[in-house]
Amino acid sequence: MLLYNSLTREKEEFKTAEPNKVKMYTCGPTVYHYAHIGNLRTYMMEDVLEKYLRYIGYDVMRIMNITDVGHLTSDGDTGDDKMLKGAKREHKTVMEIAKFYTDAFFADCEKLRIKKPEYIQPATGCIPEYINMITVLLEKGYAYEAGGNVYFDTSKLEQYYRFHDFKEEDLEVGVREGVEGDDNKRNKADFVLWFTKSKFDDQELKWESPWGYGYPGWHIECSCISIKYAGEHLDLHCGGIDNVFPHHTNEIAQSEAYLGHAWCPHWFHVLHLNTNSGKMSKSKGEFLTVSLLEEKGYSPMAYRFFCLQSHYRKSLVFSWENLDNAQAAYQKLLGRIKPLLAANNPADEAKKAELLRSFTDAMDNDLNTAQAVTVLYDILKADADDATKLACIREMDSVLSLGLIENAQALAEEPAAEIPAEVLALAEQRKEARKAKDFAKADALRDQIAALGWQIKETRQGTEITKI
Ligand code: AMP
Ligand code: ZN
Repeated sequence: MLLYNSLTREKEEFKTAEPNKVKMYTCGPTVYHYAHIGNLRTYMMEDVLEKYLRYIGYDVMRIMNITDVGHLTSDGDTGDDKMLKGAKREHKTVMEIAKFYTDAFFADCEKLRIKKPEYIQPATGCIPEYINMITVLLEKGYAYEAGGNVYFDTSKLEQYYRFHDFKEEDLEVGVREGVEGDDNKRNKADFVLWFTKSKFDDQELKWESPWGYGYPGWHIECSCISIKYAGEHLDLHCGGIDNVFPHHTNEIAQSEAYLGHAWCPHWFHVLHLNTNSGKMSKSKGEFLTVSLLEEKGYSPMAYRFFCLQSHYRKSLVFSWENLDNAQAAYQKLLGRIKPLLAANNPADEAKKAELLRSFTDAMDNDLNTAQAVTVLYDILKADADDATKLACIREMDSVLSLGLIENAQALAEEPAAEIPAEVLALAEQRKEARKAKDFAKADALRDQIAALGWQIKETRQGTEITKI
């Protein structure tokens, strides 16, 4: 499989240290609020990657942290702790907030058919591991104490910036942000490993440490949690593109300094979901959650379909119109799968393997889910029997997780909706227009019918009216 590697900026043959086994780490949510659908795009694409690796024969060990301490409002070392902000907003304790939003996150994942990783680790559960790593970094001379905090000394590394395909000016923003608030740093890129002194000193969760009563920086959690479960080598590390700097850059710095060798060769980053006004965020504009989509009448599967229709390395613009189109296309797709369900002969295995080759070709080419969706349509049109087509779709859906078979089944079991009189009257007018060869009017009437939620089509059996 060819998979783009942000570290080398190349599409590379994906390789693992041990044959057929992938150790995969995915940065998890900061549980101070609901996940927005942009965050969930990242988790969904990581889910497809995990499922595809399993599909091609890997045993995947997947680890995810839950950030319940240490992530400040900037991704660097400034601002309030996000968890504390969440707790204040809702007049609850940090632990209550963490529990509530962790559960909400996994409920959203379930709705979007995102599989739960085997290893899920809240950051507050690994304090001894952070203390151990920081102690070693101090002993090896990669860290220093200043003004009550412990910092990582980036000048001790031969190469600190590791992801070069991001603009230097973008990196500089993060660096300057850190330096403005903190005169203790020896180098502008240094970052905090352990805080005991912060401008925002009302931190609720603190622990004893050799450097005083305090709390860990954000980046240390992912290094320690990964090493705790996967050991000294990781095969694949994933996250959203904003994690590249400073988070992943700092993770590499501290992990490799601690271990004394290279740590993770392959980095997978998902580009952002944006709105027309820019990056989606929890603080500005309409806060888009899975529940909000459901309230507005969209199925979570329509959102999953929308995301899979585009490549993970392209930013994706969300609009209600785009989601409408995805929902209509998804429903139509189910409608085309529905008649295949009646097939009860065995699938033609040779034909199935031939058809599925286009699916693996698409996915082997840097997880091209957009192409994989096109393959779904090609299979529906292919010269094959219904049982074979259905078997192909079932197998593809074990990776894409669009609920295609179950939802087509549910559609088949739905009692046929009664066609409203208004739609029937428009259909009658359309028939007259067609008879009079006024095709412009016939098309306009078809659009009017579609606006009412119905699709009208001429088939060999006559005019067919179905719910969109
Ligand atoms: P957070 O809960 O803020 O730590 O973010 C969780 C994950 O969502 C991280 O992997 C981020 O990189 C990713 N992320 C944040 N914003 C977006 C966005 N607009 N689109 C896609 N992924 C995002
Ligand atoms: Zn992380």
